[in-house]
Amino acid sequence: MKEHAYFDNSATTAVAKEVLDEMLPFFTGSYGNPGSIHSMGDEAAKAVMTARKRTASALNCRPSEIIFTSGGTESDNLALIGAAMRSGKRKIITSAIEHSAVLEACRFLGTLGYETVLLPADGKGRVTVNNLTDLIDNDTAVVSVMTANNEIGTIQPIAELAKTAHEHGALFHTDAVQAFTRTDINVVRDNVDLLSISGHKIHGPKGIGALYVKNGVNISPMLFGGGQERGMRPSTENVPGMAGLGKASELAMATMKGDVKRMEGMRDKIINEILSIRGAYLNGPAENRLCSNAHFGFDGIKGKDLVLRLSKMNVMASTASACSAGSTEPSHVMTAIGRSAGEALSSLRISLSRYTTDREVDLLLDAVPDAVRSLRTRM
Ligand SMILES: *Cc1c(COP(=O)(O)O)cnc(C)c1O
Repeated sequence: MKEHAYFDNSATTAVAKEVLDEMLPFFTGSYGNPGSIHSMGDEAAKAVMTARKRTASALNCRPSEIIFTSGGTESDNLALIGAAMRSGKRKIITSAIEHSAVLEACRFLGTLGYETVLLPADGKGRVTVNNLTDLIDNDTAVVSVMTANNEIGTIQPIAELAKTAHEHGALFHTDAVQAFTRTDINVVRDNVDLLSISGHKIHGPKGIGALYVKNGVNISPMLFGGGQERGMRPSTENVPGMAGLGKASELAMATMKGDVKRMEGMRDKIINEILSIRGAYLNGPAENRLCSNAHFGFDGIKGKDLVLRLSKMNVMASTASACSAGSTEPSHVMTAIGRSAGEALSSLRISLSRYTTDREVDLLLDAVPDAVRSLRTRM
């Protein structure tokens, strides 16, 4: 493959070499079922326990509080649907800028008679405790606000929101898929009840995720079968996937401080240089922004055209989130922060990882002004 610069790490990341090495034995040699009582079963069960401990340690929770799932989407669905159905209450509060895995789960709950209330976000994507205080009542089953936004990188005041939810007897869930390993996550400190993570956003494999479920918090399962994952998520364990997520968590935590600093430096350099392009502006906050995210609009340019032009220059970026990138509709996040449809459709999202190199940043910063210029002269 030709040299490329990859800036779509919020869509997915490369599997780390160490993660792949950790996973490989469980496909062929050690392929036992963790539920089997023979020694190959034990070996697989041990691997699952190691993965559970590593994942739990990264969130500062107990291993028994980790429920492995098939990914961030399933974790979000299980949290919201499971909490709502178990609660006996009728209301769910979430924000207008959540990932579709949360919003669509709420929509499904709507068909079952639950009411969803959307918290507004301000111009930078911030959700405030005051808005939650205004809208919450004692019939609220669960409040769900993401730790960091996947499009514009806004980091939310999770601990304060959780406190307000608890004052009204509601559970608090957060989608931490983007924030995990990029912000300091601590479910005890922040008193979170439910928290979603995904393997492939942190240099682990696709198709594995986890939901943290605080000890004592009861939610309904969505799948029924064997008793795996304490009955909350039955199905024969994805042993290689779990081993991969555990290793990816451990690996990321070991170097997180330095990685975050380096990404912040790259992010700020990218923001500074791209904002010097005529008609370019930043979406999302200048402060309290995810280290791996930069998001721009360009007057008079379609984001999709820009992404395709950059791709021809071997620079991989995106317009919005990968799930909606093919859509011609403006992103709901952009609309929620008050951008016009035209502005929303001129988006370019640059997302970094701990493996992003200075060389890639140079390629990006060479390519973007050229691509913008050529799209403008074509018009
Ligand atoms: C990617 C993503 C998800 C979905 O995770 P999958 O593992 O791909 O299902 C959910 N929430 C956010 C914020 C994401 O970025």
